Amino acid sequence: VHRFTEQTDLLAGAILDYARRRLMLDPVPLDGSRTAEELAALAGQTVTEEGVGPKAALAVFDEVLSRACISVDHPRFLSFIPAAPTDAAMLFDLVVGVSSIYGGSWLEGAGAVYAENEALRWLADLAGFPPEAGGVFVQGGTLGNLSALVTARHAARVGRAGPPPARWAVAATTEAHSSVTTAANVMDLELVRAPTDEDGRLTGPLLRSALDAVDTDGLFAVVATAGTTNVGIIDDLSGVAALCAERRLWLHVDGAYGAAALAAPSARPRLAGIERADSFIVDPHKWLFAPFDCCALLYREPRLARSAHAQAAGYLEPLQTPGEWNPSDFAIHLSRRARGLPFWFSLATHGTRAYAEAVERTLVVAAAAAEDVRRRSYLELVLEPDLSIVVFRRVGWSPSDYDGWSERLRRTKFALVLPTVHGREMVARLAIVNPRTTEADISAILDTMA
Ligand SMILES: *Cc1c(COP(=O)(O)O)cnc(C)c1O
Repeated sequence: VHRFTEQTDLLAGAILDYARRRLMLDPVPLDGSRTAEELAALAGQTVTEEGVGPKAALAVFDEVLSRACISVDHPRFLSFIPAAPTDAAMLFDLVVGVSSIYGGSWLEGAGAVYAENEALRWLADLAGFPPEAGGVFVQGGTLGNLSALVTARHAARVGRAGPPPARWAVAATTEAHSSVTTAANVMDLELVRAPTDEDGRLTGPLLRSALDAVDTDGLFAVVATAGTTNVGIIDDLSGVAALCAERRLWLHVDGAYGAAALAAPSARPRLAGIERADSFIVDPHKWLFAPFDCCALLYREPRLARSAHAQAAGYLEPLQTPGEWNPSDFAIHLSRRARGLPFWFSLATHGTRAYAEAVERTLVVAAAAAEDVRRRSYLELVLEPDLSIVVFRRVGWSPSDYDGWSERLRRTKFALVLPTVHGREMVARLAIVNPRTTEADISAILDTMA
């Protein structure tokens, strides 16, 4: 099983052939999920004592299992936050898989860590972080937000004189991502809800009024959002950063989706203020064309993260060589895949200008989508898009109309466009992160709402 044989050679050929065919699908079929009963009938039992062999296992994956997974990179997959990995990034994911790289320490993975850090540096520079900034690629925004807040609390713990507060607290708006609530629960934090303006945006004055109204000395951090997942709103990062500086609060910017806009010169000014954050995240698996799963977590002062997160054990002692960067030390994890490498390879291959152009292209399509909505008498734009999420209503539709329409598009495998709720109202939502999504794709979807 573990030795290179003629069998391995054949299997490599079959797998690479599969990969090549998947990459060449244009467009890739949307596909759709099936029930567990249907899958049991179609795939049968695949894990057996003797094994079914590579040919049969690959055939089941190709013909049944892969087709029961929606292709998130389909150009008309416009729900949640889609993915749009480059061919270079997807192919390099195969390389990472066959290379047995341990991405947790410099001792074991120096070459990989060097490359990952170069990709992190590009993101840090886009955000205007100082030269000593750094971080790590983690699994997703959920783990990134949690790890950043653990660092922030650690910094507050060691940085404050006097007795600890009765309970630590973090402030965020109701528009903040659900993972912020999860982080607060995991850390047993009080979650101070800051109000937003009518668009759902946190501003400096609104944050000030929220903080003045709460009676807690345990507040140590504010989470601002650069691009809410639901409607793509960017908080007033400058105003929030100024107040955080005044009150000595850690500012974490959740840019899991939206901080990718830093790559687009036309959008970068909208994120002004992020350079004053203590930490931020951005998911390359969302709008920076990397495959799942990949979140960049960056700290202004990584030494604080190291002292919060580095695990101590006798067998880990040899890893603590001064000057060496151990990615494990900066988040809640130890063993790790060098998951930043597909992103790095694609960046190195295409160059950063191609990234700027690709993000700009999605912004152009999003603006065109908003314009297309405005032109149609049966549609109304709910918000001017800050980024690449377009939210609009179909005049006269009830929630069941939206559900029926969305279900029809999904069943016919034409598009995946799920409605969302904004301000208690059900509305339609298009999240555009795929440079292969065209204005014509959007028009064709809007036509189905006439
Ligand atoms: C997607 C998202 C997250 C969570 O990221 P995962 O990678 O899914 O864990 C957090 N915050 C925002 C704003 C997001 O859009």
